[in-house]
Amino acid sequence: MKEFDYTILGGGCAGLSLAYELEIHNKLKEKTLAIIEPRLEYRKDKTWSFWKTTKHNFDDCVKKSWKNFTINTSTKTKFIKCTKLPYQSVESGLFYKKTITTLKKNKNIFFYKNISDVSLNNTFIFNSVPSLDPKEDGVWQHFMGIEIETTKNTFDDEIMNLMDFDCEQRDSVHFFYTLPYNKKTALIETTWLSKMNDNSLMDYENQLKNYIENNLNIKNYKINHTEQGAIPLFKLSSVNKKNRINIGTAGGMTRLSTGYTFLNIQDHSKFIRKNIENIHNVKKYEIKKKYHFLDKIFLKVLKSHPKNMPDIFLKMFNSPPENVIKFLSNKSNFFQDLSIILSMPKFIFLKVLLK
Ligand SMILES: Cc1cc2nc3c(=O)[nH]c(=O)nc-3n(C[C@H](O)[C@H](O)[C@H](O)COP(=O)(O)OP(=O)(O)OC[C@H]3O[C@@H](n4cnc5c(N)ncnc54)[C@H](O)[C@@H]3O)c2cc1C
Repeated sequence: MKEFDYTILGGGCAGLSLAYELEIHNKLKEKTLAIIEPRLEYRKDKTWSFWKTTKHNFDDCVKKSWKNFTINTSTKTKFIKCTKLPYQSVESGLFYKKTITTLKKNKNIFFYKNISDVSLNNTFIFNSVPSLDPKEDGVWQHFMGIEIETTKNTFDDEIMNLMDFDCEQRDSVHFFYTLPYNKKTALIETTWLSKMNDNSLMDYENQLKNYIENNLNIKNYKINHTEQGAIPLFKLSSVNKKNRINIGTAGGMTRLSTGYTFLNIQDHSKFIRKNIENIHNVKKYEIKKKYHFLDKIFLKVLKSHPKNMPDIFLKMFNSPPENVIKFLSNKSNFFQDLSIILSMPKFIFLKVLLK
């Protein structure tokens, strides 16, 4: 069986981002790489959005950028400017096409469908296939989004809606998220933060229909695309092994309070590329511990006080937008962290901390 210098398990966002980063920095000229990916074809299946707080390789896959966003409850709306750190949406279809086209040009890169097709004896493995503990009862961010097209000009495409809490909460945390790509098309998502143990929260199609028709007052539209997912907001079990690094969601690149993962994957890929010659001895790359600590408290508050969460999210945005964006993107300094902590309702957070 063929042996490779490197093997990437899972050719999704993290696997392809890493392979692409290595390739464009000429790290695969004299090394071989196998990418193991079972899917039969790549198609647009996700929209990766984030505030652009660092450089990444996929500006040409950005479908749309926004310099303004809102967050609202039924009684309050906050308008927030993010001119310096725009919110971007990367379209997965464009990302897959760009990365795979580039990678296929290198004769040292091989694609396989099954792990049994390659020898794993003398290779360094980058693994993006998560292993879930069936006993885990952490919180998930689960959602369905539909891209709709209207007949008339409907959306203000200069401003996106990050969170609209003016909807049923059902003893959980629920919001809608709207990304208007132009005046006639938008991605609209229904998002829940819950333990995913209540199937009644998953009537996503009805929720979306009801929201579009009654809250957004749009009656004539067609659905062009649907995406659905669940992001674990808890640490995944990962066994440290010699000759193996976990990447992507499996590698702890998801920010636990928000689900944002894409830019962390890009930062992790850069870190691996810089250290590839010494990869056997390199220290584990992690999202900073302070964020794990603060996110853990945040998620405890979320579990024990779901009804307060819309107000807590709104309060967070009382801090200067740059502070909040950098905090949510794990790029904040001490003073920015402090401004977020001070904007939180102290009584609830202290109660949860002391429990
Ligand atoms: C629908 C959706 C929308 C998201 N939107 C955002 C967003 O807006 N912003 C953000 O920052 N994050 C977002 N995320 C979170 C995160 O960025 C994505 O999940 C991202 O795709 C994670 O990359 P990954 O490589 O870890 O996982 P994936 O992209 O899922 O890649 C894992 C790959 O492993 C393959 N695989 C599975 N089993 C095996 C096996 N046994 N052997 C080999 N390969 C296998 C899969 O087919 C897949 O291609 C979203 C997640 C989802 C599901």
